[in-house]
Amino acid sequence: MQRPEPQEFARVLSSMCTEPHPAARAAAERFLATNPGDPGTYEAVADLEREAVALLGEITRLSDPAGYVTSGGTEANVQAVRIARNRRRDDVDRPNVVVPDHAHFSFTKAADLLSVDLRRAPLDDDYRADTDAMAALVDEDTVGVVGVAGSTEYGRVDPIPALADLAADADALFHVDAAWGGFALPFTDHEWDFADAAVDTMTVDPHKLGQAVVPAGGLLARSPDLLDTLAVDTPYLESTGQVTLTGTRSGAGVASAVAAMEELWPDGYRSEYDRAQSLADWFTAELRERGYDVVDPHLPLVAVDLSPSTIDALREAGWRLSKTGSGEARVVVMPHVTRDALSSVLSDLDRLG
Ligand SMILES: *Cc1c(COP(=O)(O)O)cnc(C)c1O
Repeated sequence: MQRPEPQEFARVLSSMCTEPHPAARAAAERFLATNPGDPGTYEAVADLEREAVALLGEITRLSDPAGYVTSGGTEANVQAVRIARNRRRDDVDRPNVVVPDHAHFSFTKAADLLSVDLRRAPLDDDYRADTDAMAALVDEDTVGVVGVAGSTEYGRVDPIPALADLAADADALFHVDAAWGGFALPFTDHEWDFADAAVDTMTVDPHKLGQAVVPAGGLLARSPDLLDTLAVDTPYLESTGQVTLTGTRSGAGVASAVAAMEELWPDGYRSEYDRAQSLADWFTAELRERGYDVVDPHLPLVAVDLSPSTIDALREAGWRLSKTGSGEARVVVMPHVTRDALSSVLSDLDRLG
């Protein structure tokens, strides 16, 4: 029987994951048979996880960060909503969390799992959270406010400092979802991190722009008390309590995250951001020259208005391409996306007419 091969990345245009850095791949293999969920037994990987959190803290400008390496952005967002709910458990019966409409669908899962009401506020006309629209949805039962730093569809960064103020006034947890954007934003002028605003918790995923292997997400918290709201007793492990959602976890993800960040932070991530952003800007200009509508790429993510039949034709030509909710084609300029690849997308578009 023929062994199945994984896909190649050459024509993958819409994924937020990428080829892991070689150092990340090697570290993952070395730590395959470890379980950071049982730190008393698997001490080396537990040490690595502390290092991962410290490095994520450097990237997001949080000294003494609390947190852990999650299975991805979904788990980190679910846990953040759980912290928001548990923190106000004694004084709120019907908790709600206010999010901008572009919040990732993981918040829908979180709300469903945790019986929290999810209130989605409309965006402003540049696809960013509208602080007034968010404020209009906040009431005394609001336990959490979410801002997105690098939105999934258009790569937008919400007004994080203003949303932090809104959350503080409501005594709600302020969570920033930088799952994808977190490894690009340090090299931009955007205000998004723990030093820019009173951010309580943040999602930032090494397995996206961090170039670690899947699964390696990140949840950070300004204070360990916040994570403590998640703790459950663990009678048969060597450690006595656990704040993570999953039990047995991927040591490969943890080790690869550390290896990637040690290798790439900050210079490697900076040069990748510079490369990707200038490629996104170039691709945008080329598309506009051909008469297509393109949403301004604030981060290396290009959303272009192609007809459904053109998108289908590109898919048939082998391009792995997804659409935004309004139907634009979405090109995420990840490390594996090259200028040659985008040139050949343009030739295909020219050929398709
Ligand atoms: C990718 C993404 C997520 C979900 O992360 P997974 O690792 O796929 O679970 C959440 N939020 C944002 C903004 C993302 O880009």
